[in-house]
Amino acid sequence: MSITIAVPRETVSGERRVAIVPSVIKQLDKLGVTLRMQRGAGEAGGFTDDLYEGATLVDDTSALYDGADIVLRVQPPSVEEAGKLPEGSLLLGFLTPHEGDSRIKNLQKRRVSSFALELVPRITRAQGIDALSSQGNIAGYKCALMAAHLSPKLFPMLTTAAGTVRPARVVVVGAGVAGLQAIATAKRLGAIVEAYDVRAATKEQVESLGGKFIDTGVSAEGEGGYARELTDEEKAQQAEVLAQHIAQSDAVVTTAAIPGRPAPTIIDAETVQRMKAGSVIVDMAAETGGNCELTEAGKEVVAHGVTIAGPKNIPSMAATHASEMYARNLCNLLALLIKDGEIHLDWDDQVVADSCLTHDGEIRHAPTRERVEGGN
Ligand code: NAD
Repeated sequence: MSITIAVPRETVSGERRVAIVPSVIKQLDKLGVTLRMQRGAGEAGGFTDDLYEGATLVDDTSALYDGADIVLRVQPPSVEEAGKLPEGSLLLGFLTPHEGDSRIKNLQKRRVSSFALELVPRITRAQGIDALSSQGNIAGYKCALMAAHLSPKLFPMLTTAAGTVRPARVVVVGAGVAGLQAIATAKRLGAIVEAYDVRAATKEQVESLGGKFIDTGVSAEGEGGYARELTDEEKAQQAEVLAQHIAQSDAVVTTAAIPGRPAPTIIDAETVQRMKAGSVIVDMAAETGGNCELTEAGKEVVAHGVTIAGPKNIPSMAATHASEMYARNLCNLLALLIKDGEIHLDWDDQVVADSCLTHDGEIRHAPTRERVEGGN
């Protein structure tokens, strides 16, 4: 009997993406699996049921999970949903391993082999599976557009009979995957772009996109290519140099993050006060605490004449392409987990081993295991 893959409708409020899109069905066929979709799962992303050729459509999750071998999701299941997953099945999706201990315990109880896309190693071989990057790219693009939309100024230089408009000045903070896409997008819109990241290696990447790197004299290169937390002194120096650039800008896009930790505060209330009235901050880190002290997640607030947007679940705003990219990431991961039409978990494969959160009743990801089982 072939492997059955089940794709539920996402249940988190506002989530428009879906884990599998019609264009990857051929890839799934090659793996020799059968696709079962919950009716309406792709609708919000623009993928109506009739487009899923060859898939079995079912109404509810009990029919969906009956005898299913693999469950594919975008958002993590709720505690309750995790407790209802097919026993011993595989689960692939964003699973926020740094939080949601009760959910993780339920995955253990159901002996689910769960693979968290957040844990996929950032190595060259795994680039096709890197959903943080695929979704980060989309978020960066959207945040730059949001900044342009919210700004009362135009981004490009315009020479018209009614006079010349000077290009907008945009500052992007955090030049990871999302930040670099925000820089590229703001540049394409014609803005003058400056950018800053604690990792010195990003200077060249910023410049290759036509941005100017802001040198604050602070470097925070951490382990594995990620940033480390800065000392108080370093933070003050970074903040002052950045504040000077931010005060001169028309729009700021902040994307600074430290994996599994609250977002660093980079723009305090005082800096907002120094900004020009009419300027804009789009804070991509709103959901993890925000890079701006005045950000409110899911809201647009105005402080000292500055509009501060704290959008939530940004990739879902471009649900069609976000789902397409995400579905490809999942299929590429599935290709490592299915051999000759059967599930085969090769623990010698770094991508398989590192991305596994739970398996056979155990938490395999050490930091999560220590937290959940240490009772902290
Ligand atoms: P992220 O979302 O974790 O963080 C975004 C950016 O914020 C990072 O560039 C980080 O340095 C920066 N940042 C953190 N604290 C800051 C602060 N106080 N001030 C300013 N900036 C701050 O990062 P990401 O985009 O997911 O990428 C993380 C790393 O992984 C990067 O080194 C990236 O190049 C690397 N990566 C590698 C691959 C690969 O296949 N080799 C693929 C994707 C990403």
